[in-house]
Amino acid sequence: STALVWFRRDLRLADHPALHAAVASHDRIVALYVHAPGEEGEWAPGAASRWWLHHSLEALDASLRRHGGHLEVLRGDSLEALRATAAACKADALYLNRLYEPRLLKRDARVGRALEADGLAVRSFNASLWSEPGDLLNQQGEPYRVFTPFWRNLRTRIDERAPLPEPATISFDRVDGRLAGRVDIADLALLPDHDWARGFADWTPGERGARDLLDLFADDALGHYAEGRDFPARHGTSRLSPHLRWGEISPVQIHAALRGHRGLEPFLRQLGWREFAQHLLYHFPKTPRENFNPSFDAFRWAARDPHALRRWREGQTGIPIVDAGMRELWATGWMHNRVRMLVASLLTKNLRQHWVLGERWFWDTLVDADLANNALGWQWVAGSGADAAPYFRIFNPVTQSEKFDAEGAYIRRWVPELARAKGRLVHAPWEDPAFLEGSGYPPPIVDLKTSRETALDAYRNLRGAG
Ligand code: FAD
Repeated sequence: STALVWFRRDLRLADHPALHAAVASHDRIVALYVHAPGEEGEWAPGAASRWWLHHSLEALDASLRRHGGHLEVLRGDSLEALRATAAACKADALYLNRLYEPRLLKRDARVGRALEADGLAVRSFNASLWSEPGDLLNQQGEPYRVFTPFWRNLRTRIDERAPLPEPATISFDRVDGRLAGRVDIADLALLPDHDWARGFADWTPGERGARDLLDLFADDALGHYAEGRDFPARHGTSRLSPHLRWGEISPVQIHAALRGHRGLEPFLRQLGWREFAQHLLYHFPKTPRENFNPSFDAFRWAARDPHALRRWREGQTGIPIVDAGMRELWATGWMHNRVRMLVASLLTKNLRQHWVLGERWFWDTLVDADLANNALGWQWVAGSGADAAPYFRIFNPVTQSEKFDAEGAYIRRWVPELARAKGRLVHAPWEDPAFLEGSGYPPPIVDLKTSRETALDAYRNLRGAG
């Protein structure tokens, strides 16, 4: 018998429960990917994610070819594509790994019901989380809203999980004849039509790239992760985020590979935040658009300021650590976590622009853009989120910069105008107007002190109104 294996955000062959089960129970499989961005609505993959997806699909196809098969790529409506493929190879089952985003949950339920009505067996699995949303509730049987107790509970459950191996052999069915919607990966036109992504060349999308990065991290940075993870000039973090986003590696695999290493616990905890974000999005599906904490609905944001937004996006705010981050994002599709917090704080607090505006820009430019993590991150910084930073704790980008980029190495890398700035000037070049004038670097977009006071006033008003 033949089974379809529907790849989505699980673009790997090892520790792939759907593939594993399909190979174990069927003579042959057909591996397919369906490109249906319309089904993801306003959260269809952004430009940087599409770049990643293109290369990740190519990597997956190459892995399947090593087993003598290939990836069928279809375009259009998922249900129609699956039906057409099932008919073409007389498949009697569909295997897939579950997704948890609100819109995709509904889509998958609808597709599953329709295919079952056609007579296919539909079997789904958990491939991307240690614990699925709904499995992990607090003592009152409710979803956690605070991370630490969530993590304490989750931490007790993860040690016994072992990853599945890549199947030793995979037998493929041939989908002969014409199949409506069948295309080449290149036909999906996922790559940008200009040279923006040139600077993404350091990434290696795909399962192999994920594995290599994990090995490098284990040898290099993991031992100092707790201390090193906050310094953007160092390679102190794993950079696995885009690989995790596309399921080229799973938390179960990561944990198994790193077990026994020094420095593991604080790193596992960050993976716990990823899991927390997925659970929150599942239970509170409106959080990519709406304040998690409704008392923030009355917050007085400043009017949308296209000029300020443009300077922020282009890394021209005149606040060095912020501009370094925004330029790193544009150039590489990634930004260090500490700097993500600082750029988000400047936008939502000093400039009082709504967090959704920043979330959207990140969505389009991050290679790791993830609906759950991005919404959690923005709402955390804005102060409106679950277990968020207290609003009144507004980051000071200058003291943060002095603390986490003391020599200015990160700033100098991304803001060459400041390459020759001496001492404290690299963090606050406006303190020497003559230097600033000659550097070609812009003056600061806001006065950090007064804008901080204005933001705190807006917050006090909110509290007063509430
Ligand atoms: P590591 O430090 O090596 O951590 C390992 C993994 O744990 C990460 O790959 C990620 O999957 C997970 N993780 C780490 N920190 C967090 C966190 N705070 N929240 C959730 N998961 C975490 N992360 C995304 O994956 N996609 C996003 O779209 C995203 N948007 C963000 C927006 C803002 C405003 C902020 C403040 C954070 C955002 N993050 C997002 C979280 C975090 O910045 C990145 O996951 C991290 O920088 C990725 O780098 P890394 O893989 O080297 O992380």
